[in-house]
Amino acid sequence: MPEELARLRTIAAMVESSDDAIISKTLDGKVLSWNSGAERLYGIPGARAIGRQIDRLFADAGGSSSMSDRLRRVAEGETVRDIEIERRLRDGRTLYVRETLSPILDAYGRIVAAAVITRDITAHAAVELALARERWFMRQVIDTVPSLVYVRDANGRFLIANRAVAETMARTVDEVEGALLADLLPCPEDHERYRRVDEEVLASGRTMVFDDEFRTHGGDSRWFQTVKTPLSGDNGQPLLLGVSTDITARKKLEQHNHALANFDQVTGLPTRALLEDRVAGAIAMARRNSRCVGVVFCDLDRFKRINDTLGHATGDALLRAVGERARTLLRESDTVARLGGDEFVILLSDVTGTSDARQVCTKLLKGMKMPYEVMGHSITVTPSLGLALYPFDGADAVSLIRSADAAMYQAKSSGRANLQCFSNEIDARTKSSHALGCAIEKAVDRDELRLHYQPQISSRAGHVRVVEALLRWQHPEQGLLLPAAFLPLAEDIGVIDAMGDWVLEQACSQAAEWSRRGISNARISVNLSTLQCTRADLVERISQALGNSRLDPSRLEIEVTETLLLRGAGPASAFVHDLKALGVTVAIDDFGTGYSSLSNLTRLPIDRLKIDGTFVQGLGNRDDDEAVVTGIVQMAHALQLTTVAEGVETVQQVRFLRDCGCDDLQGYLICPPLNGDAMNDWLSSRQSTASGIAA
Ligand code: C2E
Ligand code: MG
Ligand code: MG
Repeated sequence: MPEELARLRTIAAMVESSDDAIISKTLDGKVLSWNSGAERLYGIPGARAIGRQIDRLFADAGGSSSMSDRLRRVAEGETVRDIEIERRLRDGRTLYVRETLSPILDAYGRIVAAAVITRDITAHAAVELALARERWFMRQVIDTVPSLVYVRDANGRFLIANRAVAETMARTVDEVEGALLADLLPCPEDHERYRRVDEEVLASGRTMVFDDEFRTHGGDSRWFQTVKTPLSGDNGQPLLLGVSTDITARKKLEQHNHALANFDQVTGLPTRALLEDRVAGAIAMARRNSRCVGVVFCDLDRFKRINDTLGHATGDALLRAVGERARTLLRESDTVARLGGDEFVILLSDVTGTSDARQVCTKLLKGMKMPYEVMGHSITVTPSLGLALYPFDGADAVSLIRSADAAMYQAKSSGRANLQCFSNEIDARTKSSHALGCAIEKAVDRDELRLHYQPQISSRAGHVRVVEALLRWQHPEQGLLLPAAFLPLAEDIGVIDAMGDWVLEQACSQAAEWSRRGISNARISVNLSTLQCTRADLVERISQALGNSRLDPSRLEIEVTETLLLRGAGPASAFVHDLKALGVTVAIDDFGTGYSSLSNLTRLPIDRLKIDGTFVQGLGNRDDDEAVVTGIVQMAHALQLTTVAEGVETVQQVRFLRDCGCDDLQGYLICPPLNGDAMNDWLSSRQSTASGIAA
């Protein structure tokens, strides 16, 4: 068999010349053959290797258990291919090798040995290692970046994603890399939006920067600023690099600032800034559609008093309730804004004209008057409304709101709780009342208040019983103003309490002085409006004024109006009782005009009724008035009250009053209101002549 021999020789030559180590070993690991490639690779000559256990030749053959495992698999007929092994040699070197083991059969087909071909891949492995290190380093870097860093292909598949991406998607990095964006998004409906941006970046080849809201798995939303840049892959395929930075905190701050500027903190209603925007928008619409825009300025009547008596928390809660009430009375498209304090402005965005807008206002007026249940109190407040209409009363938001404000002022001065529409006349009047409002705040401090005095004398003997203090304002430009010109404004602006304090101090010290100088021992009477009577520390203030002037309390009379009686027994009666306890006398002013309940009159310890001047005017020519005056006097006497007639101007009136038993008289006929000095003189001369009245 020379051919067979030749073939074997060829094989042997090939084995010998191979660069790979080619060896054979028995199934229990004894070396049978060892080519020159093995000698070169391991640095061990064949003569030393053949016949030895192979694992003895190396410091570490690459895990002896795995080597016996490999041999076992070969013994079972398997070819174990291309396994990579780290092998440490006895000379200190470490090799990375790739091995293939295959069974060697004898002539009977039995597996008797293993052929092992080993290739040195140490150089290759070093490159791999370096690459792996580089990848690891890259990963470290991108995972450390707090921003989301990712590379996607044109299909939206993630090729690279850092840890921040994985965390945002609530996945692991391994889950994200290789997955499609569409399969990872917490809200799949967002996918279309992202896809469109990706396509645009890839198609344009340009970087895009945008802010975007991302909805997370948890259901909350986060804001990102994203930079998307086109890249090309190693074989030219289009890729997209995205870097998204979380800007949620900044966005929240922006939103907070926006809310601060546009929404009122107390009521949550739009502020002036937002209102002006909306009015401007409504005007633009109305111009196009030839429609009107209504602006209603709404100010709550005497709100300050509620704040002062029930506290700011209740005041705030009431403002919220008022805002909500107004909204329920309006259409969805209308705006209720709060300008501050108790001022609201309502935008009627689309009205056909004045009567349409008036109708809405009437509804508002009615609805807003209904009681509010607030923090355990049932509170009634009335609104004063001013209406202005585009295009008639203003061409832009600011002037329209200003006109509505002017109309509201008019509503205030025509008795509150009503609606006024803007007119030129209102415009002029409001301008002057605005100016008055600014000046009145300073009137007390600038010492511009004055008291005038008017006596009340007994109808029979003509003794001076009471001197009434009447307030005047010496206005720097307008001269001496009567109470009707400024008191309602003083109440609205909230300076009435300071004025009241001034009047009390001044009146008490004047009375004390008259008494000290022996001029008069008459009582001094001080007027209080209903609003003033609701002041919590009023009795305290009165007793302070008495103390400061050292005036005996019995020398002070307080005039209150009938409306106080109408308020029923509660706080009003406490107030009157407290006054009585102080020793002060109490008179009901303008009696007969206020429909007061007689039962209240009997319940309260009142001293005196002042019969209103309008009835006195009618004496001698109106039977009705005569009947009323006689009735009041009789009723008062039955209740042990004294009576005084106001506004007495004629001798005829004096006669009637005296005849019907009216105790005292006051009016121009006896003496008009005079300033302090003039009243001094009048009182002095009165004392010296001790005269009655001509009758
Ligand atoms: P009142 O308390 O009823 O005062 C009487 C008013 O009638 C005074 O008007 C007085 O000048 C006027 N009068 C007096 N005699 C006659 C007369 O013979 N004929 C006519 N036609 N009128 C006469 P005045 O001073 O303008 O005060 C108006 C109201 O202002 C007062 O009415 C009172 O309610 C209020 N008032 C005055 N001073 C004060 C004050 O210090 N505080 C408060 N809260 N109200 C005051
Ligand atoms: Mg009076
Ligand atoms: Mg009066």
